[in-house]
Amino acid sequence: TGPPRSRRRYHVSDLFTRAQRVIPGGVDSPVRAFGSVGGSPVFIDRASGPFVYSRERQYIDLVGSWGPALLGHAHPVVVDAVQRAAERGLSFGAPTEAEIELAELVIDRVDPVEKIRFVSTGTEATMTAIRLARGFTGRDIVVKFAGCYHGHEDSMLVAAGSGVATFGMSSSAGVPKGTVEDTVVLPYNDREAVTQLFASHGDRIAAIITEAAPANMGVVPPEPGFNAFLKAECEKSGALLILDEVLTGFRVSRAGFWGIDQATPYEPDLLCFGKVIGGGMPLAALGGRADVMDHLAPLGPVYQAGTLSGNPLATAAGIATLTLADDEVYAAVDRAANALSDGLSRSLTSAGVAHTIQKVGSLFSILFSDDPAGSYDDVIAQDQFRYAPFFHSLLSSGIHLPPSVFEAYFVSATHDEEIIARILDAAPEAARAAAEA
Ligand code: PMP
Repeated sequence: TGPPRSRRRYHVSDLFTRAQRVIPGGVDSPVRAFGSVGGSPVFIDRASGPFVYSRERQYIDLVGSWGPALLGHAHPVVVDAVQRAAERGLSFGAPTEAEIELAELVIDRVDPVEKIRFVSTGTEATMTAIRLARGFTGRDIVVKFAGCYHGHEDSMLVAAGSGVATFGMSSSAGVPKGTVEDTVVLPYNDREAVTQLFASHGDRIAAIITEAAPANMGVVPPEPGFNAFLKAECEKSGALLILDEVLTGFRVSRAGFWGIDQATPYEPDLLCFGKVIGGGMPLAALGGRADVMDHLAPLGPVYQAGTLSGNPLATAAGIATLTLADDEVYAAVDRAANALSDGLSRSLTSAGVAHTIQKVGSLFSILFSDDPAGSYDDVIAQDQFRYAPFFHSLLSSGIHLPPSVFEAYFVSATHDEEIIARILDAAPEAARAAAEA
């Protein structure tokens, strides 16, 4: 392990300098700032298929807008759907038929979803799911796992992944102590810790919230049956299981991670979606058991609302994306992820770099350790310092990849054999840079 190398080693662009004058850190979401790898973020001008473009050059993109770009950037059918929706009006603040259509598409794919409500961000989805679980059970405690990220709602910023992990923060300033008193953090994949907590406090627990498969501390697969175990513990004590599929939903299979996690069948009480469900537009959702969902206003006492909720451009993008995301798309994404992770691993092995490919379906990350990681503590213990040189070598070869060792790589259905081969051509040099770090 080690601290990030100096950002001064890498060129700082004029746009980044200008952005930093008017936007804190020059970015609207912290990980984008390249804080842990140094240098300047690539300012994107446009994107198409597997590519993003700055004003100066083309990059093969492995960020995929952090998940939404399952079909590749600016898929013509999705763009056309959004354009046609825009011509009919940008926002109504009243119900539309498109919301029903998108709801039906989700319910058709994910069995435990009986009813669904659309919001604009993943943060809103998890925040509402937590409020709903508390309102439904009349209990306060919510259990989360260290290294899981559920958005930036106050009570979920304890021991969170993503940017909170990237910047080495244990939590956030500005969160009142009282707000986090009812959040209990447990180590991921630790059944014993869950059992003990439920034995002592089971009657006070409203919910467990967990990433369906964690991918905000790098990818950390759940041990087989872990989610089913969580559901069983919840059921015994009257708590709810909230499965956060914001990142995995409609990405790792047509029914998300839940759809490939049924060796021991289980039904989460609530699920959260984001990213792919909006096809790149601001749209997210929570859904699940009808008797729980009906506790939301206007039917029930749990309040939630949104001026832009169910926005017509966003629902148009979501409907087009889910309609296009068929078995062939998931097969293509799986093929691309397998070829890419295998190839990157081969280069790292040749360069003598200790590493493990951490993988869940088409989501993967590189862990710089020979020992697979099952928890946040394992992830922290890797050779983090190898990531910045690996990252910058690939970036200079025209590969736009996540600027943090704590994030997953995202491929799309447009990452075909030729694109993967171009990335793998650049991999040996990047692996050598990692070896020399
Ligand atoms: N949950 C998970 C699992 C996520 O990965 C994210 C975002 N990366 C969120 C919630 C929050 O979503 P948003 O950024 O749209 O608020």
